[in-house]
Amino acid sequence: MSKIVILGGGESGVGAALLAKAKGHEVFLSDKGVLEESYKEILQKNEIPFEEGQHNEEWILDADEVIKSPGIPDKVELIKKLKSLKKPIISEIEFAYRYTSAKIVAITGSNGKTTTTLLTYHLLKQAGLKVGLAGNIGESFAKQVIEDNFDYYVLELSSFQLDNCYDFKADVAILLNITPDHLDRYNYVFQNYIDSKFRILQNMTVADDFIFYQESNTLVEELNKKQFPVNYLPVSLVKEVSEGAFLKDGFLHVNYKGSDLTIALENLPLKGSHNAINAMSAMLASKSLGIDNEAIKRGLTTFQNAEHRLEPVADIKGVKYINDSKATNVDSVFYALGSFDDPIILIMGGVDKGNDYRQIEDLVREKVKALICMGKDNHKLIHFFENIVPLIFDVDSIEKAVQLSSDLSESGDVVLLSPACASFDLFKNYEDRGHQFKSNVLKLITD
Ligand code: ADP
Repeated sequence: MSKIVILGGGESGVGAALLAKAKGHEVFLSDKGVLEESYKEILQKNEIPFEEGQHNEEWILDADEVIKSPGIPDKVELIKKLKSLKKPIISEIEFAYRYTSAKIVAITGSNGKTTTTLLTYHLLKQAGLKVGLAGNIGESFAKQVIEDNFDYYVLELSSFQLDNCYDFKADVAILLNITPDHLDRYNYVFQNYIDSKFRILQNMTVADDFIFYQESNTLVEELNKKQFPVNYLPVSLVKEVSEGAFLKDGFLHVNYKGSDLTIALENLPLKGSHNAINAMSAMLASKSLGIDNEAIKRGLTTFQNAEHRLEPVADIKGVKYINDSKATNVDSVFYALGSFDDPIILIMGGVDKGNDYRQIEDLVREKVKALICMGKDNHKLIHFFENIVPLIFDVDSIEKAVQLSSDLSESGDVVLLSPACASFDLFKNYEDRGHQFKSNVLKLITD
C-alpha cells in the first residue's frame, strides 16, 4: 500500500481516486477549485478523504506518488515543490494502465482526436469486440479499469495526458497531425509540444502498428529525426502507399498485410478531406486488430459523429447551417472551409490564441462571401480579412451573428460557424457556443 495523492477532482481525478482505493492504497484528493456535487458524493460514499479550495501541503508533500490532473500546469508552485522533492508525478492514464492487460489503441494529434477515437471505437464495437472508450472523452480510464470488463480500450489522449506517462504502452497508436497549440503550457517552445505528442510512441516495438498522416510536415520531420522502432502505416491524401491507406480518384484504399479494403469517399459518414484522414486511420487501426473488411464497411454506415464538428443543423430555404464550434484553431477552419463547394457565410471569432490566419487566406478569398466576426478579438480578424472578403461585419452576440447570416444568405449558400478561437469571452465553452448557435438557427424556422 502506498500513499497516493490526487491533484484535481474532475472526471480523471475522481476515477483515479476510486481505482487507487479499490487497489488498497491510502488516497487523498485535493482540488484548489470547487468540486462538482456529484463527484463529492462519490468520494464521500467511497470514504475517500478530499479537500477543495486549497492544497494542504503537509499531506500532499508526504505522498509516495502523485496523480496530477492534465489541467494543472507544471509551473504552479506546488508541482515545482513536488518535483524538487523528487516525488513521482504521473497521469491518470499511466496509473490506470498498470491495472489492465487489455490491448490499447491510443489516439492523439492537434486536431481530429475525438472524431477518430469515436469512429475507431464504433468500428471495433460493431465488429463485436469488448471495447471501452476513455481518455479525454466520456468516463475516465481509471474508473473503467476497476471492473476491467474490456479486452480493448480506445483512448483519446491529449498532450497533457501524455506528459505524465512513462510505462504506458499502446498496441496501436495513431498520431494525426501536429500544429502549434497550447504553447502556453510548453514555454512557448513548439518542440516541447511535439515531444509531448510523440510520447504516444514510447515503449512500442516493431510488433506494434503506428498510424500517421504522412502529409503532416512537422510530424514526418520529427519521425525522420527520431526513427522509432515501430511498424509504420502512413495515411495519405495524395500518394499511393503499399502498406497503409490512401485516397485516390474518390476512393479510400486501406492496405494492411495483404488485405485490401476499398470504400468510395462519398459513402463515408463524415465530410471533408480531414475526415478522410480520420476515417482511414480508424480503419487501419481496426485492420490492425483483425477486424474484417465487411464488418468495417458495416460499421461505417452506422456511425454518427459527436456534436459541434461540422454538424449539419438545418436547411432553411436552401441555406445549410453548419455548427463547427469545436474548430478552436486555424487548422480546423482550414479543413472546414475545404469541406464545402458552395459560397460560405463564415462566423468566426472569440478569444484569439495567437492565431496566424495566413493558412486560410486563399480559401477565404475563394469561398467566403461574407465574414461575421463575433467576439473579443474581432479587431485582429477585421484587420486581417478586410481586403480579402467582400463583406465583413463586427457583432457582439450569437443572436446577431445568426440573424445577420440569415439576412445575407441566399439559396445554395452555407452558413458556417467555425470560429478558430476559444469561446470563453461570450460562452462557457465551445459546447455552449455550439448549442446557442443551434438554438438561434432553429429559431429562424419558427420566426
Ligand atoms: P480534437 O478532439 O483533436 O479537438 P475533433 O475530432 O473534436 O478533434 O475535431 C475538432 C475540429 O478539428 C473539427 O471541427 C474539424 O474542423 C477539425 N478536424 C478534425 N479532424 C481533423 C484533421 N484530421 N486534421 C485537421 N483538422 C481536423
